[in-house]
Amino acid sequence: MGATVRAGVFTGDGKWDVRELSAPRPPAGGAVLQVEAVGLCGSDLAQLHGGVGVPGETFPVVPGHEIVGRIDAITAEAADAWGVAEGDRVCVDEILRCGACAACRSGDPECSGMHVYGYTLGIERESGCWGGYAEQMALLPRTNVHRLPNDIPAAELTMFEPMANAIYWVQRSGVQVGDTVVVQGPGHQGLACLVAARAAGASCVVVTGTSGDTARLEAARALGADATIDVEAEDPVACLGEITGGRMADVVMDLAAVTTATIPLAVTLVRNRGTVLLAGLKHFKPVEGLLTDLIVLRQLTLVGGAGFTPASMRVAVDLVASGRFDRSVLVGDVVTLDTLDEGIALLARSLPGRDSVHVSLVHGS
Ligand SMILES: [Zn+2]
Ligand SMILES: [Zn+2]
Repeated sequence: MGATVRAGVFTGDGKWDVRELSAPRPPAGGAVLQVEAVGLCGSDLAQLHGGVGVPGETFPVVPGHEIVGRIDAITAEAADAWGVAEGDRVCVDEILRCGACAACRSGDPECSGMHVYGYTLGIERESGCWGGYAEQMALLPRTNVHRLPNDIPAAELTMFEPMANAIYWVQRSGVQVGDTVVVQGPGHQGLACLVAARAAGASCVVVTGTSGDTARLEAARALGADATIDVEAEDPVACLGEITGGRMADVVMDLAAVTTATIPLAVTLVRNRGTVLLAGLKHFKPVEGLLTDLIVLRQLTLVGGAGFTPASMRVAVDLVASGRFDRSVLVGDVVTLDTLDEGIALLARSLPGRDSVHVSLVHGS
């Protein structure tokens, strides 16, 4: 029997286990990554319980799509195409585009034949190590990797992926220098949006949450939020009016998970002709209390945000590596495969008395 590696595996029914899988070998034209750390994403919980809606997602699967590691072995073709060598530290763009469909040929990122590491390549396929919950993973040709600095803890670098989303959504919202931006929902993705809005030149960023979010709102202030609002304890419309001298927000970004109450609220927090970006998923629940006449009469722009682009990922990698914000505030808790149950419980916010802004799984010593 050949060498094995350990990997967390999701079976799609709310259960997970740690398995020994055969160690991957570099696919033709690809490479093997020694995974150092993977960020646990809020969507990993939905995946654990049966799926997030990624086209082609499969089970059992090694999850994990916020992947940082070192090139362990690489084919000459991949070394040439990716510009990296054995030992280099990289992050992996989880989207693997086919390169052959009409979208790919025209440079449109909406590939119709894409694979997504951590979702669509199951454990039946070759070694099965296609996600960051494995100690090593195989990388196919056409993978996008970005080189990362060596002097930053791998767990901190995993935020490149939520940051790539945040940068794309800030771009989609049209945030301008000097803008006031409200971020609703102080989870890891919301906090990344705060950082990205600031990087885009927003002069005032306000983060809102609920009474259960005390630690997260504190993290928002540590990351430079001008103000935070607990919408259960304070009237957010009055608070924002006071902060902005009645101008209200140029852009409201909704990152609140599950609750739909933030959507009618966003429409009242934004100024006339302002923009509301919706990126927090609501499990397909309809929105109650939304007066669309307000969108019409106040001439608002409504924008959806999902995922990132190769360009926003490049900007995110530079921003995370630059130290232009305090990464240590965003890193949260670090677990190993031996303590993955704790990590998943933190992700589900089900550990009494503990709340984490983010969880990373770190492999190795
Ligand atoms: Zn993610
Ligand atoms: Zn394609």
